[in-house]
Amino acid sequence: MAKLKYSAKKKKKSVLDRTINFFANSTYHTYLVGGYVRDITLGIEPIDIDIVVEGDAIKAARALNKQLKGKLHVYKEFGTASIITEDKRVDLASARIEKYNSPAQLPHVYPSTINEDLNRRDFTINAMAMSISRDNFGELFDPFNGLQDVKNGLIRVLHKNSFIDDPTRIFRALRYKNRFSFKIEKRTKLLMKEAIDKKIINHLTGQRILNELKLIFQEQKYEDTVRDISNFKIYRIKKKDLDILQNLGQDGFYYYLARIKANGMPITTEEKKIIKDMNNLPKTLARLEKTKKNSTIYYSLCDLSETVLEGICRLRPGFGDKMKIFRKLQKVKPFITGNDLKRRGFPEGKEYKRILRAVFTQQLDKKITSRKQALQYLKTLKK
Ligand code: ATP
Ligand code: MG
Repeated sequence: MAKLKYSAKKKKKSVLDRTINFFANSTYHTYLVGGYVRDITLGIEPIDIDIVVEGDAIKAARALNKQLKGKLHVYKEFGTASIITEDKRVDLASARIEKYNSPAQLPHVYPSTINEDLNRRDFTINAMAMSISRDNFGELFDPFNGLQDVKNGLIRVLHKNSFIDDPTRIFRALRYKNRFSFKIEKRTKLLMKEAIDKKIINHLTGQRILNELKLIFQEQKYEDTVRDISNFKIYRIKKKDLDILQNLGQDGFYYYLARIKANGMPITTEEKKIIKDMNNLPKTLARLEKTKKNSTIYYSLCDLSETVLEGICRLRPGFGDKMKIFRKLQKVKPFITGNDLKRRGFPEGKEYKRILRAVFTQQLDKKITSRKQALQYLKTLKK
């Protein structure tokens, strides 16, 4: 039977060591799974520790956390728990079978053995498990030859309905492809195209799509995945937008959301504003390019969120001087206020805003340099 050495053997008392010791000395049937096994076979230090328990994962997590003394989060409805320590996250789940009754909907789940649990997974490279139980410690469970696919750099689904059952796997496949510079195996690619042609992604909730897109933008090679998503005709994106995204870094996520116009995603009011500003970004850049006028610089930028301002700096390092001017103008206090208008008998209402802006514009452009001049200027305006 194949055996895997676990990578952190030398690191004394790491979270991994303590986790493994705990389970190896207990009666639980427990396995390291998924991303953890994939990453150690690739020689990468895994970020999270994914554990499957044959039985009650929440109970096991409680017991383990008495040793780890991390922060325990229990998700009763999913039968899962997470322990967050200073440097690692340990995710525990009960081994389960998943039954999909309709496409793209969340499955019904039933308790199972580790082998059945591996059947529900997305790709062969994520469907391996290594026992950390007392009676078969170190035994590798690899029913789909995931090890072989890791070696050959292939993303392969476990069965032909995989993308229909759970279309988020389409995004996951592209994300792993680019993270590890793997290829999508030929048949898997065909199945993916078929699912995309059936517009299966439209069956996912906005929340689930948003989660996947967020994960993509957390990856180093997010722009390659965005290009793949476009090439697979999921969300088309133009070359010039890709160039912008490449330079925007991870905040490009909002520019991307603006460009793909994906509907129904649960986004906060603050995020909506960033998306709107990102949508106008090309126009803002064009306006800034042309102008040297203080007031145009100020009004082009004053309502934008910091995320978008940072984006502008990244996209146009040459605008450094204009950004400096803007930062100074942000501190300028208007010479006159609404109270001044009131005292001088201007009728209250919408006009106030226009008048105050007209005076402030003169001030920004240094055509008015004192409160006295501002009040004089007021006289030239109609009441
Ligand atoms: P990462 O390094 O991105 O965290 P991971 O493989 O650990 O990669 P997770 O999203 O943390 O990925 O999920 C853990 C495991 O759960 C995966 O390795 C996979 O086996 C399984 N899994 C996650 N999402 C799905 C899905 N949509 N369909 C089937 N299996 C999934
Ligand atoms: Mg993980």
